Amino acid sequence: MRASAWFVAGTPTAFDRTKQMTQTAAYEGKQTKAPLAAKTAAYAALSAKTPIEPFAIERRAPRPNDVAIEILYCGVCHSDIHQARDEWGGSIFPMVPGHEIVGRVTSVGSDVTKFKAGDLAGVGCMVDSCRVCVNCVEGEEQYCNNPHAVYTYNGRDKNAEVTYGGYSTAIVVDENYVLHISDKLDLAATAPLLCAGITTFSPLRHWNVGKGKKLGVMGLGGLGHMGLKFGHAFGAHVVQFTTSPNKVADAKKLGADEVVISTDAKQMSEHAGSFDFILDTISAPHDIAAYLNLLKRDGVLCMVGAPDEPLSVPVFSLLGRRASLAGSGIGGIRETQEMLDFCAEHGIVSDIEMIPIQKVNDAYTRMLKNDVKYRFVIDIESLKGDSAQA
Ligand code: NAP
Ligand code: ZN
Ligand code: ZN
Repeated sequence: MRASAWFVAGTPTAFDRTKQMTQTAAYEGKQTKAPLAAKTAAYAALSAKTPIEPFAIERRAPRPNDVAIEILYCGVCHSDIHQARDEWGGSIFPMVPGHEIVGRVTSVGSDVTKFKAGDLAGVGCMVDSCRVCVNCVEGEEQYCNNPHAVYTYNGRDKNAEVTYGGYSTAIVVDENYVLHISDKLDLAATAPLLCAGITTFSPLRHWNVGKGKKLGVMGLGGLGHMGLKFGHAFGAHVVQFTTSPNKVADAKKLGADEVVISTDAKQMSEHAGSFDFILDTISAPHDIAAYLNLLKRDGVLCMVGAPDEPLSVPVFSLLGRRASLAGSGIGGIRETQEMLDFCAEHGIVSDIEMIPIQKVNDAYTRMLKNDVKYRFVIDIESLKGDSAQA
């Protein structure tokens, strides 16, 4: 059975799309279908079974509220793999993945007030939302239910045009969905904050994980290493769970107080009934029963990992300790800015391995072998001179 994750942008029904466009017209009556801008070099998945390859797209000309951005770096998220391979269902092809985007503003529309040409800018997983539902009004646009946010790629915007992500040289986004990026931090290492960063920051903040709390982080990949860094920065006692013994030393360097090899039943049992909060960042189907048993009374296990198959939940592990199994999706624009500002203040960035875009398929292969330390980031400069571009 295919999982239907809420953040799969390719799944709305025709009814959803009509509804979304009608609502758009109602509150943004002046928005018209924009003329097309110049061709933009990109890399795309043309189908679920083919590698990512050179592809040309067209970005819209900036509307009055738009910011045009030259992309400098784009992180590679495991969600890119899930969607490019249609593991969640409903993928739209051709697909230009990439939602950890950092770049520089090249021009702004006439009504833009928050950005000017030359500013650094970031774009994460969303480029728009309805702006009027309760979740949008409360600054939790990622949970827009009208019918859902417009995702940066593998989605459709309010004109029903397919959205294309950051494996490209430029992007045009409404200023309300663009983030300010500090020049104090390494720019390439900042890109992963736009998804891996906010996706782990948000649940730790929501559940008040900090001083005096015992936090477990499951999986040491892109999200996991950011969860570990934030947990440590918030003052929690952090235990990193990993299936990779060769990551133990790194986990300690990244701030783990303890590291547990999750395949070792004895190491796991030593933590039985002791965690306030466990953040599950694992990308593949796995057994969560063993982790639920590590929660203490009223503990929470929060899923951010999004495997393509349902997980089996032994209910006695929950009711025996009044525990909660929860989930969390990225974060709102306001909180994403808060996270970026927190990172600038505390010198937090992702640990990255920079790659040229031509190596993105190798990066996918390595991520699927858990061989990532700890986020691949594409240097978009490599796309600018790419001879394979049409
Ligand atoms: P990643 O960098 O590939 O890291 C995943 C890590 O999970 C691996 O490095 C590995 O860590 C562990 N792992 C993988 N397969 C495993 C298995 N079969 N059993 C146990 N552990 C396994 O992936 P990511 O970019 O961090 O993304 C993680 C997941 O979060 C993906 O499913 C992604 O789609 C999802 N995601 C969700 C949101 C959201 O809004 N909720 C946002 C972004 C991403 P060890 O080597 O340490 O074991
Ligand atoms: Zn992501
Ligand atoms: Zn909304």
